[in-house]
Order: sequence, then structure tokens, then C-alpha cells
Amino acid sequence: MSITNSETKGYFGEFGGSFIPDDLQHVMNILEENFLRYKDDPTFQEEFKFYLKEYVGRENPLTFAENLTKQVGGAKIYLKREDLNHTGAHKINNAIGQILLAKRMGAKRIIAETGAGQHGVATATACAMFGMDCVIYMGKLDTQRQALNVFRMELLGAKVVPVEKGQGRLKDAVDAALDDLVENYQNTFYLLGSAVGPHPYPTMVKHFQAIISEESKRQILEKEGKLPTAVVACTGGGSNAIGAFAHYIDDENVRLIGVEPEEAPTLSQGVPAVLHGFKCITLLDEQGEPKPTFSIAAGLDYPGVGPEHSYMKVNGRAEYVTIKGEEALEAFQVLSKTEGIIPALESSHAVAYAVKLAKELSADDVIIVNLSGRGDKDVEQVFNMLKK
Ligand SMILES: *Cc1c(COP(=O)(O)O)cnc(C)c1O
Repeated sequence: MSITNSETKGYFGEFGGSFIPDDLQHVMNILEENFLRYKDDPTFQEEFKFYLKEYVGRENPLTFAENLTKQVGGAKIYLKREDLNHTGAHKINNAIGQILLAKRMGAKRIIAETGAGQHGVATATACAMFGMDCVIYMGKLDTQRQALNVFRMELLGAKVVPVEKGQGRLKDAVDAALDDLVENYQNTFYLLGSAVGPHPYPTMVKHFQAIISEESKRQILEKEGKLPTAVVACTGGGSNAIGAFAHYIDDENVRLIGVEPEEAPTLSQGVPAVLHGFKCITLLDEQGEPKPTFSIAAGLDYPGVGPEHSYMKVNGRAEYVTIKGEEALEAFQVLSKTEGIIPALESSHAVAYAVKLAKELSADDVIIVNLSGRGDKDVEQVFNMLKK
């Protein structure tokens, strides 16, 4: 095991870093070098912005939820509409950014792992557009539970590999993808879906998702002439939240609020530990193993969280709260009825908290909720839950 020794190498306080075997560290060093070379390169940025506009459909609106605001009373609620992106969520921003980097690095083949399938679909989509070979590792059990997403990825030209080793879950898919990467790194790029993993992934994913707050800051200044009182985002691995927070971190009067499911309260109840190659606040069971979580929102079902969120929890820059599954289910229906916008179950957690917060604030206050995705994917699940 090697541990990156430089303080600046992806550390946020004590969190982050890189706790991985030497052969994998070698691959991460090459990745870091290339990320640093291209991230501020004007041609690279121009290309990234081009695809965000022409393919993803950015910039997306910052919608004033007037009906919801009237119904709730209190602060004005605005929605940052990541749900309107191509493929219906924020994940495509990062997938495009990483694929453009992969292209610069000469990779011909993209690999990724997916649990519920959302990151696999975003990756397969971007690979189809850029003509890249795409291999998605998925736990065998998950391929059975998410058969439709497997078909979606195959339609997009990806090869989905069911992983039978271990328990046939996400962790086993991660291990299979890492083995593939170490063996094939000369032509292969590992596209990671959230602000987690060893350095440089958390920093890189933040860089590509920061477009969310770059836009929302400009938009709220145009509409309200001032910064928001609070920015609220759901937190799984933490990529939509870090993107929604990024351009406000230095604005100390803006409250940054991450919303976790009460059923997977990583930052609210976790402890510092090394998980999947980096240090973060994480939920452990009595044996010190990552604790299984059971959120109704598949995208929030992860026992760890990005290192920068872990750091902002400890230093107090951001607040992290929990919302129950049933409260998210209620918010899912309320936003659908009041605004004609069906939110993803993940995003519904953020909406549920924003509604509570708005009631405590005054009409002069402004809340931006990051609507990380649309709820079409969840309609059948909600139908089944409501029937019971
Ligand atoms: C994947 C996903 C999330 C959770 O991932 P983060 O990395 O925490 O953003 C949240 N919302 C939607 C719609 C997702 O697809």
C-alpha cells in the first residue's frame, strides 16, 4: 500500500488522499498529471462547454417554484433544473468531462461500475456519442434487479459484465473494474460517477460538476440581485451537492445544506475511515465493515461520501441533515402537483428539506434546491409503494 505523502494531493483536512496498491497508484498518478494539464486548458474547456450546450442542453433554467413557495409560505424556493439535462440528471456533466479527458489521454475504451444503473446509463450514453468502447461492470444481483437499465446500456452499445464474485453487489463491481484498469490502463479509462474514490477523482468530479453552481450563481444574481440564503442538495456520494455548492463555498453567508436519507445517514452518524481507496466519514457496522444501507432512492444508498463533504461537515462550512423516506415520498408528490415537475426520489429528499427550511425563513430569503434528476425512472417504484 502506498499513501500519497504530499499534503496537497487530494486532501481536504484529514480526508481524501489515496490508499491503494502501488500498481493502481501508478495509474492514478498518470491520471492526475493529465487532469492538471487539461483542466484549465482553454481548448479543453471550450470543448467541454460545447458538448454541455449542444448535447446536454445547458444552461438549464433556475426555475422559481412560485406555487410551491405560496403553498409553503416563507422563503422563495428556486429549482436548479438538472432534471432537464439529456438523460435526466446531473451525472452526464461528469461523464462528458471525463470522456473528453480520456480522449486527450488516447484511451479507446471506457470502463465504469454501476449499482442501480444510473451512472452506467450516463456513461454508455456519452460513450455512444464519442464512439468509445464501453464496458460496464455490475454486480450479478444488481443486473437482475435492474434488468431494464441493463437493456438500456446495451441499446446504447455498451457491454454489461455481471460480476458473480463476492456478493454480486456494487463493491464487487468496483473491484472488477479496478482489476480491469490495472491490467489495461494503457488504452482504458475508468470513469467514476461520484465525488468519491482515490485522488484525483473527487477533485476532478467537482471540477466537472461545478458548472451547476457556476450557472446558478449567475442566474440568481440576475433574478434576485443577491446570493441565496441557502443551497440545498441531496447527498449520496456527493457529486451533485459539491457541484451545487462549489461556487458558493467562499461566500460564507450562504448556507450549504446536504440532505441524506435517514436510512443512510453517512455524515450524520458516520466515523472517519478508509473506504474504497480514500478517507471519508463512513458508516461502519460492529465488525468495522461498511454498513449496508436501505434508502428508497438507489442513488443515495452508499455508506461513504466524498472527502470534501466530510471536511466541510467537520469544519462546519456545510450542514448535513436527514430526511425520512416517507418525507421524500411526500415531497415527490407535492412538487409534482404544485409545479408539474416529477423529481427523482434522490432529489425529493432535498425538496423535502427545503420545504421545512422555507417555513422557518422569511419572504426575503431565497433557497436554491438542486433538482439533481427527474423522477420518470421512479414512477413505477412510487406506484408500488403508494399501493401498499
Ligand atoms: C446518482 C444520483 C444522485 C446521487 O449521487 P451524488 O453523487 O450524491 O450526486 C442523486 N440524484 C440523482 C438523480 C442521481 O442519479
